[in-house]
Amino acid sequence: MNFCSNCGEATINRVPEGDNRPRDLCEQCGIIHYQNPKIIAGCVVLDQNKVLLCKRAIEPRYGLWTLPAGFMENGETVAQAALRETWEEARATPVLDQLYMVTSIPRINQVYMLYLAYLNHSHFNSGPESLETRLFSLEEIPWDELAFLTVRDTLIQLKQDLAMERFSLHCIDREETPTSAKS
Ligand SMILES: [Zn+2]
Repeated sequence: MNFCSNCGEATINRVPEGDNRPRDLCEQCGIIHYQNPKIIAGCVVLDQNKVLLCKRAIEPRYGLWTLPAGFMENGETVAQAALRETWEEARATPVLDQLYMVTSIPRINQVYMLYLAYLNHSHFNSGPESLETRLFSLEEIPWDELAFLTVRDTLIQLKQDLAMERFSLHCIDREETPTSAKS
């Protein structure tokens, strides 16, 4: 940040009094512009042991498959964000189950929070951010065409949990690479 979003004055980057790391701060109006991780909320939508994936119609990772998920908005709960993203990308209104996967990616300051959910009346379609939306059995998952390593991690875990017929909350710390999940 170069200029204060509150008053327009040039910001400086230094450790504020009582803090322990440098921040962008404005000496004109006194505001400290904190930057914190972003939360990506989404759903692992199941239907008869098949999982709903969306083929991305947007960059990054255009044309690769992902779970319906996206950046949380202000004023939302994580569950609301997960359902909204699932509607926007997969035109599905699943019934939420438990929080299933929390992935921290400190290198890019992101936290994924994915819920387990069950498809409602098998209705889904492609939203504007998806080229295609479909259910995959575990054998059909396009492992070489997944958009993100977090998606891959989640589907690997899902495969194990479906085999055990037991789901629990998983927390993963992951260093996402800048290229696709293939690498
Ligand atoms: Zn200011």
